[in-house]
Amino acid sequence: IKYSEGQGWHSATLGPRGPLTLDPATAVLHYAQEIFEGLKAYRLADGSMALFRPDANARRFNQSARRLAMPELPESLFIDSIKALIEADKGWFPPVEGGSIYIRPFMIASEVFLGVKPSSEYLFMIICSAAGNYFKSGAPAIKIWISESYTRAAPGGTGAAKCGGNYAASLIAQQEATANGCDQVVFLDAAEHRWVEELGGMNMFFVFDDGSIITPPTGGTILEGITRASLIELAREEGLTVREENYAIDQWRADAESGKLVESFACGTAAVVTPVGSVHGVQGSFTIGSGGPGQLTQKLRAKLVDIQRGTAPDPHGWVDRIN
Ligand code: PMP
Repeated sequence: IKYSEGQGWHSATLGPRGPLTLDPATAVLHYAQEIFEGLKAYRLADGSMALFRPDANARRFNQSARRLAMPELPESLFIDSIKALIEADKGWFPPVEGGSIYIRPFMIASEVFLGVKPSSEYLFMIICSAAGNYFKSGAPAIKIWISESYTRAAPGGTGAAKCGGNYAASLIAQQEATANGCDQVVFLDAAEHRWVEELGGMNMFFVFDDGSIITPPTGGTILEGITRASLIELAREEGLTVREENYAIDQWRADAESGKLVESFACGTAAVVTPVGSVHGVQGSFTIGSGGPGQLTQKLRAKLVDIQRGTAPDPHGWVDRIN
């Protein structure tokens, strides 16, 4: 779908994926005016296909658009375009229950000019790819690396927007994590280098021995994860106390060592809920609980997966059926 100033959104097309031809002076290639979303479509137990909370992705997309001085897309256009694409590619959709498709809507500045100003033309596109099937047992615990040298986002920056530039800036920290034998990098805040923010593509949760949970607050430098928001609701429905507050890296270590902190997990669309087994950094390592997936981590994961796959009731109206 194209956007031009004065004309708004127009010329929607649906067709086979192919190369994109861009002039070398296309704005996005130089000034990185680009945003994206990531969501999944699932095959439900009754054979139908459904999206999980696409309205939340549409809202976050527009939040990112505002931050990058890009035009907003009507929520219904965002959702209906995704549904049209999935419908068109139906034959290709994994037939098995729990099979899923990863959906990537994105927008680029497409005006041809050199100069630092917002583009007057944009392109909104959606592509899909097959994603791994869901296993209720979940992923094994991961090792994470504390980045000392790099931060992902600064106050007033683009941390809460889902723009390509954030990910470009985080790659070197992920390389460092991998070089140190870890699976993922964990970023601390830029101002004090003390507060745990998030992983490269997942939000963080901390579980204590009294059953309470802490997750870092949104509204600043972290991405407002939709999995995060869903898990907060599910945990509160379980009667657990969830506090959205800052948690310091030193406190994390002290609480893990004293046994006050019993579990930690990361969450996002791609891996749903992933247990964190150990944390490593230049100041040494510490293990979370037994180092394996914690009980509450697995319970919350199963609760969310059951709703997404349509095997549990959906009292929140999160599951949006396509056909
Ligand atoms: N933080 C970052 C930096 C991410 O890229 C993602 C993935 N979109 C998340 C958190 C988790 O967000 P969500 O649950 O909406 O996938």
